[in-house]
Amino acid sequence: MAYRKRKGKDTWHWCRNCSNWPTSDYEEKPSKPAQGELCNECLSKDKAGTCTK
Ligand SMILES: [Zn+2]
Repeated sequence: MAYRKRKGKDTWHWCRNCSNWPTSDYEEKPSKPAQGELCNECLSKDKAGTCTK
């Protein structure tokens, strides 16, 4: 699963159905980033089982 972060921001997303999922001007990492914040929406989608990876 890929992690994406919009350039200039510090929040990583990993759910493609997150309302803040970056589709342009982003950085992508193949595994959990060691630095930066994790998106709260992605976290709650993950917990609810509605995260599209
Ligand atoms: Zn997110």
